[in-house]
Amino acid sequence: MPLPHFLVMPYPILGHINPLLQFSQVLAKHGCKITFLITEFNQRRVKNAIEHLGSDIKFVTLPDGLDHDDDRSDQPKVILSLRNTMPTKLHKLIEHINALDGDNKITCLVISKNIGWALEVGHNLGIKGAVLWPASAIALASFESIPRLIDEGIINSETGLPTRKQEIQLLPNSPMIETVNLPWCKLGKKFFLHMAEDTKTLKLAEWWLCNTTCDLEPEALSLSSRFLPIGPLMMQSDDTNKSNSFWEEDSTCLDWLNQHPPQSVVYVSFGSLAMMEPTQFKELALGLDLLNKPFLWVVRPDNENKVNNAYPDEFHGSKGKIVGWSPQRKILNHPAIACFISHCGWNSTIEGVCGGTPFLCWPFFSDQFYNMSYICDVWKVGLGLDKDENGMISKVEIKNKVEQLLDNKDIQTRSLKLKEITLMKTNGGQSSKNLEKFINWAKE
Ligand code: UDP
Repeated sequence: MPLPHFLVMPYPILGHINPLLQFSQVLAKHGCKITFLITEFNQRRVKNAIEHLGSDIKFVTLPDGLDHDDDRSDQPKVILSLRNTMPTKLHKLIEHINALDGDNKITCLVISKNIGWALEVGHNLGIKGAVLWPASAIALASFESIPRLIDEGIINSETGLPTRKQEIQLLPNSPMIETVNLPWCKLGKKFFLHMAEDTKTLKLAEWWLCNTTCDLEPEALSLSSRFLPIGPLMMQSDDTNKSNSFWEEDSTCLDWLNQHPPQSVVYVSFGSLAMMEPTQFKELALGLDLLNKPFLWVVRPDNENKVNNAYPDEFHGSKGKIVGWSPQRKILNHPAIACFISHCGWNSTIEGVCGGTPFLCWPFFSDQFYNMSYICDVWKVGLGLDKDENGMISKVEIKNKVEQLLDNKDIQTRSLKLKEITLMKTNGGQSSKNLEKFINWAKE
């Protein structure tokens, strides 16, 4: 039987590109043929990653329809541009690849989210489809629940915003969430309407593969038999040493970490998208100064430019190291790390869990609030940072919570236990069995 040929296509942000690259590596390891589609703009930005992935994965590109100088952090703009300009080009590209590769035509299309129209293109060409969901399964379950939440009058059908302030439980046994923190609520009306539409097209996919395990989010996974947990992908792809990044990784922080005793350093990182406002940025700097611990703080170049060198005059930073971009997966597995101040993006959450690292949660938007609930209330491997009456997380709150977290032996023990349970699901565990099931389906 010929091995399947996958066309893998992420929505063009790092939090989608990375898990889909990891997924591609796992499929390639099983002998599948992979063609990986990225935008021309991102091809230049992930050049390093592409070079060290070798020849197992073939890269192809299409334009994203935006001008070179357009703001690609404006997600509704990117989503619209892709939807307006890419479908015809994708159709032609698939036909072109299939004409060249007559014996090994594309048999399956795997996408992330926000580009559900791609499944329609594949469907029209007789190609089956799957989604690799790059966020938590509970986020997928919440998008799936949008029609019900509208019917029950919990959210407005036009804006997605709550009709009133309340706490709800999306599924039996899932954590409670304030309706204002539902994954779409901080991303604007345009994004909500797109997501509601996109979730309908995603139904063309036979599988919604989730980068999670059956133990981490059992309630969310039970919502549909199409949800298939295959994570943590990073543990199956053997690529902890590789850097897939838009920014240059500063690996000097590993030498710096090597000079510190076990569990002594506070790691601070907010992923690839979150932007911190100047006043909050200053307060965080002062909070880190107050710690009786060294810290490793990622200040992305784009965030630093935006806040325009906003380190306060009183900031010493003498106990810490600041980098523009870190090799995060290696950092979270380094013995010197004591805890992780995180925005709780799903990739960071999974990486922290696999590193056995206790979390201090500082969510910004999307599924990050849900992920915080899992971390703090369900898995009990972290604490949340509370905002004051001005909506700020104060330097004293940062200092106090770090101390509270590091004094809490139960959280540390549970973090290590959760790591052990999660890693058991890979390499021979349920996640790798699910992956085999998926590959067998793709072969049919
Ligand atoms: N990351 C990294 N170095 C950094 C900060 C982040 O390699 O200095 C990686 C991190 O390991 C994760 C990804 O960037 O894989 C961020 O994804 P996540 O889902 O956590 O958040 P997003 O960027 O989508 O908000």
